[in-house]
Amino acid sequence: MTFSENGFILDDKTMKTKDEEHSLNKCSAVANEDEVIRRNSENLRKEFILGKNNIFQRIRSYEDAPRSSVGSSLLHFPEVPPHLRFNKYVLGHYRPLLDIRGCIASLAYWHNETINILTHAVPIIFILLLIPRILPWDVITIPFLPVIHVAACLAPWVGSTFYHLFMCHNTGQTVYAFLLKFDLFGIWFTQTLGALVTICSAIHCFEYQTKRLLLVFYILICILSLYQAMTVSTTWGRRFAFTAPFSIRVLCLMLRLSPWGGGAPNTTYYVVMQDLLAIIGGYIGAVNIPEKWYPGKMDLVFNSHHIMHVLVVAAVYQMHKAAELDLVWMSSDSACQNIIFHQNL
Ligand SMILES: [Zn+2]
Repeated sequence: MTFSENGFILDDKTMKTKDEEHSLNKCSAVANEDEVIRRNSENLRKEFILGKNNIFQRIRSYEDAPRSSVGSSLLHFPEVPPHLRFNKYVLGHYRPLLDIRGCIASLAYWHNETINILTHAVPIIFILLLIPRILPWDVITIPFLPVIHVAACLAPWVGSTFYHLFMCHNTGQTVYAFLLKFDLFGIWFTQTLGALVTICSAIHCFEYQTKRLLLVFYILICILSLYQAMTVSTTWGRRFAFTAPFSIRVLCLMLRLSPWGGGAPNTTYYVVMQDLLAIIGGYIGAVNIPEKWYPGKMDLVFNSHHIMHVLVVAAVYQMHKAAELDLVWMSSDSACQNIIFHQNL
């Protein structure tokens, strides 16, 4: 175990009381960050080797100890297991390791995953309630695609909500790794099958055999993307797993803008924004801005992951607006009237 990789910024004295930890957290915001991380990680590693203040013993004691006030037992960065230390600028308000009931009960108090849970749980409720009115079902005659679209609107929020709610489950890294894959599967579903409407509308006026060939090719790309997302271990590797389907979507956008492409009029803005917002959100989440500038100040609200969550909800809303227009357009008998080359393809 290499503590320096986990970005500890507290020194050995801070392991003794939370007040001392808190005061050092404040100091870290103005100190030379790299130097502090290097120095204190070394101190903490020495303590760990010597068996003093074993943080994992403390964690177990949190599990076992009865708590009169759950909110009062929130932990600081060095007190949580390594697999939960993925943002070194979020310094506090971590939930202790909990069982299933404890994870669900954590909805009742504020911690550093509350915003992450709420921002993706609320869309699930909204979408489920709005399913009867989410699309003009009586106008749409295209089979399967509307259902796939609604599932794609729900998928990322279900995976993400489970991931953030149960990530501190006391089973540890095994459950965490499963939840991460479940979260990634939801993202994959939306990024690939969620784009089927816009892809199908772009090639809607092609010959049947051409459409079938292109869709089979796209599905193969999606399966490869899923394999990469599930097997790559780095954050950036997982992000690049979605590069191939993204490239296909860009090609489809170019096709839509050409004389050969289909798609409802006035959808370009939504098609562009759905990917642009997702990319901006992913980038902000990856570079840890703004909490990088104010370590420990944005644990509860407005850190990069919170911003990313809101932006991806906005991205899926743009995807839905484009899909709604495209599904109605594909259902129209006159959809391909203005596609001048469709009979030759
Ligand atoms: Zn998240």
